[in-house]
Amino acid sequence: MLARTMQTQAQHKRVWGFFTSSLLLVVCLVHTSCAPLRTAGTHRTDCTLKRYEYASVQMGSRCSIVLFAESEEIAANAADHAFDAISDVNRALSDYQPSSESMRSTSRNHNQWISITPLFTQVLVRSKEMFKHSNGAFDPTVGAYTHLWRTAIKENRVPTEDEIRHASELVGFRNVHLDAIGNRVMFKHASMILDFGAIGKGFAADRAMRVLQTHGIRSALVNIGGDIVIGDPPPDFPDGWLISVQVIDGEQWSSRMHSVAIATSGDSERYFISDGVRYSHIIDPRTGYGVQNQNTVTVIASNGSTADAVASVVAVLGAQIVPKFKAQYTDLKVFVDSGQSQ
Ligand code: AMP
Ligand code: MG
Repeated sequence: MLARTMQTQAQHKRVWGFFTSSLLLVVCLVHTSCAPLRTAGTHRTDCTLKRYEYASVQMGSRCSIVLFAESEEIAANAADHAFDAISDVNRALSDYQPSSESMRSTSRNHNQWISITPLFTQVLVRSKEMFKHSNGAFDPTVGAYTHLWRTAIKENRVPTEDEIRHASELVGFRNVHLDAIGNRVMFKHASMILDFGAIGKGFAADRAMRVLQTHGIRSALVNIGGDIVIGDPPPDFPDGWLISVQVIDGEQWSSRMHSVAIATSGDSERYFISDGVRYSHIIDPRTGYGVQNQNTVTVIASNGSTADAVASVVAVLGAQIVPKFKAQYTDLKVFVDSGQSQ
């Protein structure tokens, strides 16, 4: 267990340079060895807790876990189980691994019920909710488009209109029928492709945080490639973890927060330019093309899957969808482009 933890720390050093360009910078200025306990709405300091940090590559991104625990043994054990929970999510949702539950289930016969795991059911339930609230702008069945774009970009070209039209026949979450109670799903079309890139990391960070909590860890932060879930405040900082967000080039704001999740979406790092047009990796399901608005969106929400998915939706639809989401999800904060709070 410890060996694995040390290995993940070594991996962390190797990948750090690559991921520092992330839009979302997390600064945890916490060097004390004391952590707060909640007592009747106030915080009491528990000086037996120490800070531990672990990192690994998960879901194709740098993942770090910062936590406060009584001993290294407890901390390493909890972090290992949290990393395992993230790997489980990736094994279920990946659209890169043919062996993932997602890829296996869509490759089976369509128009018949297929048994799925509770984990896969949960992410489909959340996706369905987001599909509904976003009027279809969030749609994991865009996998048909994203895989088409991946191939075309490797060939340094934009997909043809014919290719887009062909892929569009496989897109539409309304063609995914879900029996959440019975853990079953039915795909109305053969060869549909599910892409959970817009919700998977937030969903996985939520699960990792819950695993830490089952190990008695309350003060913790899970960061999977910029999708961040934060638990109770760190030691001696009852206001929370210091989070710095670089909203646009050069502009940054910082705030202390706890018991929330943060996600950023946009095309600042992943885009393709052809004939002077810049296409984001985020697809507008209405057209099949990468969005061109260059929105950079940061969302603060009560959990990781909401923050992750809402950030992606606002990247597609722009700020006009924000009031609808704010009515749906309390305590939602959305920053679009200029860093203005919506
Ligand atoms: P994010 O970085 O969280 O905004 O997620 C973007 C990723 O989600 C993309 O790289 C695709 O894998 C996937 N994706 C792209 N467009 C959509 C969409 N409209 N709805 C759901 N997932 C999408
Ligand atoms: Mg997202």
